[in-house]
Amino acid sequence: MPDKIFVNKTEASLALNSLSDEFAVIKNPSYVHPPFELYPLAKKIFDPADSLEAVVMDMDGTTTTTEEICIHSLEYMIRKISARMDKKKWAGLDHAKDYPHIIGNSTTKHVEYLINAYSSSIIIDELRSSFIFAAIWTLLIGQDEGRKHDVTDNIISLGCKDILNENKFKKFLLNAPSDDELNIFVKACIAKYSQHISFNSSEQIVRAAIDIYYQRYHEILFGITKGNSNKLAKELLADKTKHLIEPLPGVGIFLALIKGLLGDEAVNLADLLIKQYYLKNPAASDKFNVTAVKKKLLRLSRLFLRSPLKVAVVTSSIQYEADIVLTEVFKVLQSEIKKWDISPERKKVILKKFSGYKTFYDGFVTASESNEIRLKPHRDLYSIALHKLSLQPDAFHKVIGFEDSESGTIAIRAAGIGRCVAVPFAQTSGHNLDAAAFNAPGGLAEIVLKHNLFVKFS
Ligand SMILES: [Mg+2]
Repeated sequence: MPDKIFVNKTEASLALNSLSDEFAVIKNPSYVHPPFELYPLAKKIFDPADSLEAVVMDMDGTTTTTEEICIHSLEYMIRKISARMDKKKWAGLDHAKDYPHIIGNSTTKHVEYLINAYSSSIIIDELRSSFIFAAIWTLLIGQDEGRKHDVTDNIISLGCKDILNENKFKKFLLNAPSDDELNIFVKACIAKYSQHISFNSSEQIVRAAIDIYYQRYHEILFGITKGNSNKLAKELLADKTKHLIEPLPGVGIFLALIKGLLGDEAVNLADLLIKQYYLKNPAASDKFNVTAVKKKLLRLSRLFLRSPLKVAVVTSSIQYEADIVLTEVFKVLQSEIKKWDISPERKKVILKKFSGYKTFYDGFVTASESNEIRLKPHRDLYSIALHKLSLQPDAFHKVIGFEDSESGTIAIRAAGIGRCVAVPFAQTSGHNLDAAAFNAPGGLAEIVLKHNLFVKFS
């Protein structure tokens, strides 16, 4: 490292050159200098570890399946602003063409892509009225202060700040309106204000579209907190037997194992773990020897009983969302654990540890701790997580990072973690996952079954 702050180009190149052989070039938004950031990436680690200390992992797509709700909300946004709510008018987002651009990045990037890709179908009047509805809903019904702040800024910059001075608006701020009252008020505001809204740049269109997306997403999350999870799942999901939010296969056993909670009873879960591997990767044709899997589970379980790993969840979702999502995930995990073939005493201890995400994780990092311009693929959220786990760079080789998306895998390596594992699922199958040292479509179960959880057995 140079011993001075200001260096010339040659000195800067030399300094950069000493950091890595591989770099990520990450584009910044148009209003940021410079146009891109250059990140030296940690060298990929393929060998098993002498010892492990921590696991850092993504939420959406790695721990849970909320991507379906996000994608639904993005599609809803495009439907609204192009007046194509009906599936007969528009089949919806294209899996091959659109999905690689709308999963794993920041919300702004996802929406920017869609506004660009579907620009010819946008009807400005629909965009105006959809924005007014989304803004009023967010301010009167929404629960997230950060969102309220952003929406207020947008209302002002789009020229309809008088909505905030309407007597009814002030009254509803004190006493939330019923659905009917809200709809009547929104209708009146659209008639009065929509023609005042002018979009002077594509950035303003993106910002309004982001508000429409978040309104739908948060309306669904709000429904979950009100106990409507099952009803919403039936409405929104293609597979009617699924929970709206549920852990991905293998997550429960993996987390209990690395926390040293399974003891010698880990062997009882061998068949279930194999089953979850196939559930996560139905195309897999591998065969596992159950006796060998049991032996492996026993060794790993005894090891993690002696030295449990620290675990952090790292998400580009904001805190309000992550809180609801993970609360739901741990509820479903608890119901799974209740069915495990282990002793009642052990079950009691595990259920206590899994009573909520706050009691389980050692680190919990959301977008609310950073800024939209510094989310994945930038390294910041993972760097914050490593710091929260009290890990210094000389211990980063003892960390495993799990992500399901291109930007997530880059963020892990940009944060200095070389043992980076991609756990792609259907919706991120089109992503470039070259940044990962391992690609494990069988998810966390595959890491145990095929990679020994990267532990070197003597
Ligand atoms: Mg993800």
